[in-house]
Amino acid sequence: LGASLRDSLRKLNSGVSVSEEQVQEVLNDISRALIEADVSVKLVQEMKNKIKVTLATAGDSSMNKKKLVQKAVQDELVSLLEPATKPYQMSRKKPNVLLFVGLQGAGKTTTIAKFAGYYARKGWKVSMVCCDSFRAGAFDQLKQNATKLRIPFYGSYTEADPVLIAEKGVAQFRKEKYEIILIDTSGRHKQESGLFEEMQEISAAVRPNSTVFVMDGTQGQAVYDQAAGFHDAVDVGSVIVTKLDGHAKGGGALSAVAATQSPIIFLGTGEHFDDFEPFKARSFVSKLLGYGDMRGHMEAIKEVRNSDGTKELEANMRKGKFTLRNFFTTMENMNKVGPLSKMMGGMGSMGGGKDIKNFKFMMDSMKDEELDGFVDLSLRTPERNKRVLRIAKGSGCHPAMVENMLHMYNAQKPMLQKMKGALDPKAQKQAEH
Ligand code: GDP
Ligand code: MG
Repeated sequence: LGASLRDSLRKLNSGVSVSEEQVQEVLNDISRALIEADVSVKLVQEMKNKIKVTLATAGDSSMNKKKLVQKAVQDELVSLLEPATKPYQMSRKKPNVLLFVGLQGAGKTTTIAKFAGYYARKGWKVSMVCCDSFRAGAFDQLKQNATKLRIPFYGSYTEADPVLIAEKGVAQFRKEKYEIILIDTSGRHKQESGLFEEMQEISAAVRPNSTVFVMDGTQGQAVYDQAAGFHDAVDVGSVIVTKLDGHAKGGGALSAVAATQSPIIFLGTGEHFDDFEPFKARSFVSKLLGYGDMRGHMEAIKEVRNSDGTKELEANMRKGKFTLRNFFTTMENMNKVGPLSKMMGGMGSMGGGKDIKNFKFMMDSMKDEELDGFVDLSLRTPERNKRVLRIAKGSGCHPAMVENMLHMYNAQKPMLQKMKGALDPKAQKQAEH
């Protein structure tokens, strides 16, 4: 199962005091979750060390420590995402020239359209220049976007020199007093010196007010080198992360910020022009922290769903049957997937790790006829009491614990039997959504 971040933070809240080992364990869990979310190992290690220092200097009140770990993790991630460099502030009534760079497919052309639409709606005079003479169809793509958004554009089907196009386009829009001039560039699949040279030449020719690095949010560790390469070449001033819709983990964004020491300004969250939002570090961090959690959770649900025990449980429930074997399965499942207990009808607070272990021992000491519902263990007949003693002895549990387990089973049985109707395929489909 994936590391469950919130669970590990919760662990800290369950005990009265917090030991060094517990703090260490939580930090390890958090680190694992962040690495799973594509945050680079190096960044995670640095963060861990900083948090340890924070904790060491925060005094040793254990109540404080619990909150401190949570807050330290969040604050540290937020501060990683908020470098000292502030993003370029555009001013009205003068040309603000922005150069967009990034690898092919990162989302530059789409992002420029979104960016243009965003500011045009706010009343800015926006224009775009297409300097991608490398990829066939690049100019058409920008032209189509610009036309849809009713934004003036500049480009050429015949001119092969991107530097020349940039110079001419920017000169024209400067003259026409555009407030925002967005320059779209080409990217290559890999970073090559040719690409960086081209970016440097364009940058030197148009002297942009700021350079925006556009990165694909679904990319992980590779982003650091990419971002560093562009930063070395053209001095990146801000970052836009695209494709944060769907299953993107987003951790690569931290690497881009670290490599460029530049803030993220917008996020792209889809292919439409409206799928564009100003970056908010706190909410981004919450999602990042939730990622490991959610993934672990989904995996656990899948595992539980596909287990033989669950299949048998469901098959029995469809028949209005609920055996002790099924009961143990629900307990095990609840242990694996906390919130699933809600779906199962809120079975109280029992079924923690220790109970599960004891349940398992009891189950191992039971006969098939008992597990599969062929023997009635609800009425306290002498024969039934003998069975309880046998199970207690075999499992090493006190007879009272066996009674307790049977009590829970008997309490749940009518509830689960009533769920018969809820298990037809149609109702199940709905529950999945
Ligand atoms: P460029 O080569 O850097 O100019 O990248 P493009 O703007 O042409 O985008 C490459 C692909 O990514 C296109 O299919 C876009 O529709 C898609 N794309 C861009 N931004 C996003 C986004 O935020 N979410 C999703 N799902 N797709 C995106
Ligand atoms: Mg493009």
